[in-house]
Amino acid sequence: MEAFWHGASDQTHEKSEHMKSVVLQAPERLEIQEIPEPSAPGPGEALVQVVRIGVCGTDYHAWRGKQPFFSYPRLPGHELGVEVLQTGAEVETVSPGQICAVEPYLNCGKCLACRKGKTNCCTSLQVLGVHCEGGMCERLLVPARKLYPSDKLNVEQLALVETLCIGAHAVRRASIEKGEFALIAGAGPIGLAVAQCAQMAGARVIVTDISRNRLEFCSSLLNDGIMLPAEEAEEELKRITQGDGPLLVMDATGSMESMQASLARVASGGRMVCVGLFQGNFSFSDPEFHRREITLLASRNAVPQDFHTVMNALEQGTLKVDKWITHRAPLQNAPHMIPQWAAPNSGVIKALITNG
Ligand SMILES: [Zn+2]
Ligand SMILES: [Zn+2]
Repeated sequence: MEAFWHGASDQTHEKSEHMKSVVLQAPERLEIQEIPEPSAPGPGEALVQVVRIGVCGTDYHAWRGKQPFFSYPRLPGHELGVEVLQTGAEVETVSPGQICAVEPYLNCGKCLACRKGKTNCCTSLQVLGVHCEGGMCERLLVPARKLYPSDKLNVEQLALVETLCIGAHAVRRASIEKGEFALIAGAGPIGLAVAQCAQMAGARVIVTDISRNRLEFCSSLLNDGIMLPAEEAEEELKRITQGDGPLLVMDATGSMESMQASLARVASGGRMVCVGLFQGNFSFSDPEFHRREITLLASRNAVPQDFHTVMNALEQGTLKVDKWITHRAPLQNAPHMIPQWAAPNSGVIKALITNG
């Protein structure tokens, strides 16, 4: 298992040089902390400047103390747009000066899932900023193979790549047929990513959410998506699909009630992809599940192929994310701003922390 390494006191630096980081000391306790600069990159590694950090639902949950399996203190941050400063030996895929997206999933490379190419669900997976220290700091050592450079995208688009990959992966799991209805439950950032990627794959996208503001924003991102406020969803869905229901339902709410409702909406012979998750048992009527022969799929993180899909689409302009970015703040203000952004009425779609 490799590590994203922040270079705790080491011999390579004579005088101890320090940099700023944002540390989540405990729930609702974020602080700026000086930590040692990373050391020079070893073989296969790259030292990068962290230029943009997207703040994710995971980070807000961790701030509230509601993120399962999250331990404190921790440097959060896994949605990174970086610039390569220095590369170690045997690094051929990136060079200094390039800007890159980062795949923040550290996989072992040995387990069955890894051997099958399902690196997203490695049995000893470590997600940067969740299971190990993240990128909410000035500089970081990363395995060079986790860097995805682009000379066409800007560093803010690159910081959003990982979020979009969650959608791209869920859509790939769904094997969408052109023209079929895809109902997406939940219009938060993950739901938006799913909706945009499902549209790109040729689905007729229907989105439902309890918030009309979110639906309005989602509608502005899609070409001809159908927006259904939750209270009208049941009736309208029947009308739109002529009583059949959608063949594909993708749930990005992380709510048990929504996931149960979503499963109940799948057309006979259809499938459901669980993108969001909740802590608990997901139960449903087995006769209903069997009668309609539903295919039930989970979707977790993303694989390298999803990074390529998303970055190509961003480069071609078939996927657009500029509207997503609603808030920005420099690194030193993050402890002050993250609690404000976490508030339900903050109007944040995606907030970025800037560092240069
Ligand atoms: Zn995220
Ligand atoms: Zn593995």
